[in-house]
Amino acid sequence: MPNSATPTHCPYCALQCGMNLTPAPDGTVEVSERADFPVNRGALCGKGRTAPAVLSSRVRLTSPLVRSGGTLVPATWDEALDRIAGELSRTRTEHGPDACGVFGGGGLTNEKAYTLGKFARVVLGTSQIDYNGRFCMSSAAAGGMKAFGLDRGLPFPLEDIPKSGCVILVGSNLAETMPPSLRFFTELRENGGTLIVVDPRRTRTAEQADLHLMPRPGTDLALALGLLHLVVAEGRTDEAYIAERTVGWEDARAAAMAHWPEYVERITGVPVPQLRETVRLFCEPESAMVLTARGPEQQSKGTDTVSAWINLCLATGRAGRPFSGYGCLTGQGNGQGGREHGQKADQLPGYRKLDDPAARAHVAEVWGVDPDSLPGPGRSAYELLDALGTDIRSLLLMGSNPVVSAPHAAHIEERIKSLDFLAVCDVVLSETAALADVVLPVTQWAEETGTTTNLEGRVLLRRQAITPPDGIRSDLEVMHELADRLGVEKGFPTDPEEVFEELRRASAGGPADYSGITYRRLAEENGVFWPCPTPEKDVTAGDQDVHPGTARLFLDRFAHSDGRARFVPVSHRAIAEEPDEEYPVLLTTGRVVAQYQSGAQTRRVDELNAAAPGPFVELHPRLAERLGAAEGDPVAVVSRRGRAVAPARITLGIRPDTVFMPFHWYGEGRANTLTNPALDPTSRMPEFKACAVRLETVER
Ligand code: SF4
Repeated sequence: MPNSATPTHCPYCALQCGMNLTPAPDGTVEVSERADFPVNRGALCGKGRTAPAVLSSRVRLTSPLVRSGGTLVPATWDEALDRIAGELSRTRTEHGPDACGVFGGGGLTNEKAYTLGKFARVVLGTSQIDYNGRFCMSSAAAGGMKAFGLDRGLPFPLEDIPKSGCVILVGSNLAETMPPSLRFFTELRENGGTLIVVDPRRTRTAEQADLHLMPRPGTDLALALGLLHLVVAEGRTDEAYIAERTVGWEDARAAAMAHWPEYVERITGVPVPQLRETVRLFCEPESAMVLTARGPEQQSKGTDTVSAWINLCLATGRAGRPFSGYGCLTGQGNGQGGREHGQKADQLPGYRKLDDPAARAHVAEVWGVDPDSLPGPGRSAYELLDALGTDIRSLLLMGSNPVVSAPHAAHIEERIKSLDFLAVCDVVLSETAALADVVLPVTQWAEETGTTTNLEGRVLLRRQAITPPDGIRSDLEVMHELADRLGVEKGFPTDPEEVFEELRRASAGGPADYSGITYRRLAEENGVFWPCPTPEKDVTAGDQDVHPGTARLFLDRFAHSDGRARFVPVSHRAIAEEPDEEYPVLLTTGRVVAQYQSGAQTRRVDELNAAAPGPFVELHPRLAERLGAAEGDPVAVVSRRGRAVAPARITLGIRPDTVFMPFHWYGEGRANTLTNPALDPTSRMPEFKACAVRLETVER
């Protein structure tokens, strides 16, 4: 590899910040500013700046590991691959193909996600594949599909945000989760626009807001309905837009009118004057947006909640208008692309539906298989993990750490331990990898080339910047070798560009059409927005007649066949587990700036660990006083599913009826020990964001 700077992208969140990487003479890798990428213009958060630390052999896996006598011991690649192929083959023979499970991740490149879906369905013949992105944005995806006929996190570029008149940011602490994105909201306010933040905590993001609404966790649906009620009552609907561009208003209107502001205040705790002020600020400017993130989405009614916020945008004529509309801030690095190319239980590449005969025929032709040989939809992520050790006997897991990140995590850990066989491909020995029978050490971001799709739907080229250490192989090589050993000799290339060329063909004509995108274009154009269909001429043949990509969706029409958006009538309902005498407090969970997701990578970075060394329980002084806890005292948080202990962090910036815990850690402070796996009926999203707990002091 050259010693010059390679322009590439951060391995972590969905912003996919651009950065330059340069190998240093001492074997380390230097990160430097890459100002040409428009999303971050050179800015990076601490996670991105320190990401090369995980490339170090000090923290990463350097050899395959195979369990022997109860212990993971180094093994050769052939020994490890033979063991995995043998166990998967045995499981299939003894229990049938659906006894083999596959679990992917929203951080996998498009090429890996595509190949993993194909591997599950063509090589293993199993329907049992899903991925951790189900825990991330599936409710927003389901709500977007219902309303617009298409799900792309943001239907417009981030650079549209400062040009809007008002943004309601619902349940996103982007000042900590993706700090460089805060500048879009700062510019919004500098331009005279208004930022309204909806969050039960006074987060660093909420501190930037003109208006901060602090609803009770799990009541965002009622809040949106109350706002829509006021929009109607105050005569602020856009009747011409509703008539021309939407379907279903009357039912949605009737549902909203049942949610009187005073009733909504009782449910949410947000005072009626704040509801009225929100409506005024949202409706008066020419343009306005609603952006949601995990707060309203990670609920057992997440899809309905998203629908309610979309209804607000439709009734006010915002969606599909310049600098306006609804968007979702996807979380994981390839959370967008990861849900488009077939690692999801119900999908085929190009965001096609697995139960659509035409989609099956198209993809089967690209794959060179009989459409009837493709299995149907499988279980969603939590349901798949919950079936481990029962229906599912062996699991291949790639790029995920569910022992920390899944809801009801101690239960999921037991389910994983009950498997006949577990194989994990990872960069580090995560808590889940430590339970495996075989662990394969794989290449990571800077050591391999691949594409990701950021939260705007911008497809990016993450270039290889350094040579991987000896003994490491890519996930694509792993799937190639396993396919070969399981009797499928062709169709699993190891070259990422070759995989992407096949992905282009598989996605052609689908909702997420990548067929007009090539590695060459991605390199030259610094990313291309999908959909980007192939024009009449071969786009690889020359520079003419290439589709420019689609930065802004829905300006002329929505993706439903009649071009109109759909109102979805929804009504308030309670969270699955309301507080009661035994469990009187609400728990909500989230992230801190110096850690990322399950922490498997960032907990191995000294600088990040120094900044965020462990979990904590954030609580209001009134709650702390009732408990008898002082700052730093160990507090036990107990739910119906388990108990977690962490130091108290006392702040006025949280509702007195709510405690908050970050979820990045394992051990006694594992927040997901407590969380509720109650699922949204449409998206199958677990209710991470609200469950009933009680607090106890702990003697130390
Ligand atoms: Fe990486 Fe996200 Fe930080 Fe940007 S904001 S540097 S993409 S973790």
